Amino acid sequence: MLVLNTEYDIIVVGAGHAGCEAAAAAANMGSRVLLITMNMQTIAQMSCNPAMGGIAKGQIVREIDALGGLSGIISDKSAVQFRMLNRSKGPAMWSPRTQNDRALFAALWREELESIEGLDFWQDMVRELIISQDGSSVLGVVTGMGVPFYSKAVVLTNGTFLNGKIHIGEKQIGGGRSGESASVGITEQLVQYGFVSSRMKTGTPPRIDGRTIDYNKMERQDGDPLPYRFSYLNVDSKIHSNPSKQLPCYITYTNPAVHAELKTGFEKSPMFQGRIQGLGPRYCPSIEDKINRFSERDRHQLFVEPEGWNTVEVYLNGFSSSLPIEVQQSALALIPGLEYAKMFRPGYAIEYDYFPPTQLNLSLETRLLNNLYFAGQINGTTGYEEAACQGLMAGMNAHLKLNSKDPLILSRYEAYIGVLIDDLVNKGTDEPYRMFTSRAEYRLLLRQDNADFRLSAKSNLLGLASQSRVDSVQNKYRETEAIIAFFKNNSAEPVVLNPFLDLIGSANINQKVRYYNLLSRPGIDIIEMAKADATLSNFISSFSKDAIEQAEILMKYEGYIQREQENAEKLSRLEELKIRPDFNYNNISSLGAEALEKFNKHRPATIGQASRISGINPADISVLLVHMGR
Ligand SMILES: Cc1cc2nc3c(=O)[nH]c(=O)nc-3n(C[C@H](O)[C@H](O)[C@H](O)COP(=O)(O)OP(=O)(O)OC[C@H]3O[C@@H](n4cnc5c(N)ncnc54)[C@H](O)[C@@H]3O)c2cc1C
Repeated sequence: MLVLNTEYDIIVVGAGHAGCEAAAAAANMGSRVLLITMNMQTIAQMSCNPAMGGIAKGQIVREIDALGGLSGIISDKSAVQFRMLNRSKGPAMWSPRTQNDRALFAALWREELESIEGLDFWQDMVRELIISQDGSSVLGVVTGMGVPFYSKAVVLTNGTFLNGKIHIGEKQIGGGRSGESASVGITEQLVQYGFVSSRMKTGTPPRIDGRTIDYNKMERQDGDPLPYRFSYLNVDSKIHSNPSKQLPCYITYTNPAVHAELKTGFEKSPMFQGRIQGLGPRYCPSIEDKINRFSERDRHQLFVEPEGWNTVEVYLNGFSSSLPIEVQQSALALIPGLEYAKMFRPGYAIEYDYFPPTQLNLSLETRLLNNLYFAGQINGTTGYEEAACQGLMAGMNAHLKLNSKDPLILSRYEAYIGVLIDDLVNKGTDEPYRMFTSRAEYRLLLRQDNADFRLSAKSNLLGLASQSRVDSVQNKYRETEAIIAFFKNNSAEPVVLNPFLDLIGSANINQKVRYYNLLSRPGIDIIEMAKADATLSNFISSFSKDAIEQAEILMKYEGYIQREQENAEKLSRLEELKIRPDFNYNNISSLGAEALEKFNKHRPATIGQASRISGINPADISVLLVHMGR
């Protein structure tokens, strides 16, 4: 007789973006994993917009992929549209973004998870953690059905579900997402063990019946004619085999009449009437917040985004609202193209518990309970990409710890993921944390095109990224080097290239000039130059698009990249200077009271971490360095 297996290496609670990546990573590395989630029909639900990536977030998805996570592959396979954002700016700003088929995205995640050996599922609500008698470590979980499951580590990825409360106008409904119940018990128990929790809020716009939209009154926005991918594995997908099939998005605008109509609902607004206490995402405000805060603006841009290949439902990006349903509907009718739009689902706001992430180590293990990890929205972040990358790191690090290995800690100059976790753990956040390129000091190093160079080999050594990934990185590296060598050693002939230079308004050359030097001119790129130069065209024809692009970026921005690299290396020498865990800050009499309190509270592991604690200034670091004998 087969009995219920209740013992695992790692239990992952929650199957959102963080939970899916955590479970996949840990199981793919060889742990026996149980993924417990409240509803198996909602595995990998996109709670809000059906899109992945975008500015800075796209870089994170590339990094997840380079590390051997699955979000990039699944986003590629479920894409209905691809756009490389910011192509007109420097390569540090290029950011891939897909519009996705919501249902397909979730179905593919489930399929991938079900194909992983050593990964089991259980549908239930985790109600409490099993904690050792001395209160030092987590030993498992107990579910709502009363089943105890034991494990050596637990990863909590509860998202917006912890004591979730949904607001629409004056209505308040307990729930973790529309139509799903809230999770109760975990916050209360952890608070008893000394954890601090707080409240945040987020919101979502109405979903509309696409058959009732007049797209002729809107601006059409198509995908790129040659879509890139998130995954370095070049997975195949509908939009990659047939780019012309990509679905368009549309743009429309609010107007003063829409704003006036929305204002009629302000007296019933949960946000303006103080019923919502939690702080929302500053950079993703509700429409009522926008017209209130930016009252001088008479219109706001809205993106009308398809929800998938086989549905008429569309998502109204930019119109997030918790105003009463009637007000949402009547305001919609005043927007060009939406005069007859029928809502499928109204917008709503949701408040939930999170745990300020300064309670974590950089491995995402909690400081208070051994072997308990937090990842995703529970740490005060917002966004699928931010959640997914934390899940991946928590899953990897839980597995590494159980196998007596050091955790994988990515630095700020190695990955956006490193920036994110370092910010969370050292600075904390009291509003939903979202990634921006401006948060990274070394964004020219952290480009979307080189995440594989930065991360795949590292992950492969730890047992996650496959050997085929590393092989393809090495191949790309060799190709890139060969292209650079050709550009540095070969020259273009004036008679061949001058017609092309005339065409793009660049000065003629009077004698042979190295391709490398020509590339530094604005407006010149390898592919265009090769169209005019048969020698070059012949040479590059045997190289991949990725290697050509990589070589071009490395040559065009060589000076800047080198400078950033040198700065990063200089800082990293100090950054990685370790501080003994038992270092006694109280012995440093010249430290101010605030610095003393902060150092004692955060107990930074390195000088780098110490320098990023909010409230710590360079003078405090100098004092600390002197006392460490530096
Ligand atoms: C209404 C709404 C609007 C949003 N708007 C935006 C936005 O505008 N921009 C943006 O970037 N992000 C937005 N988000 C946030 C985005 O959805 C999250 O950042 C992301 O989904 C977080 O991923 P996660 O894995 O941490 O949690 P989630 O995706 O929320 O997944 C949590 C999972 O945990 C499960 N779970 C929870 N508690 C338990 C338990 N006790 N036992 C078992 N299973 C449990 C749930 O069933 C679910 O599967 C919004 C979310 C919501 C709900």
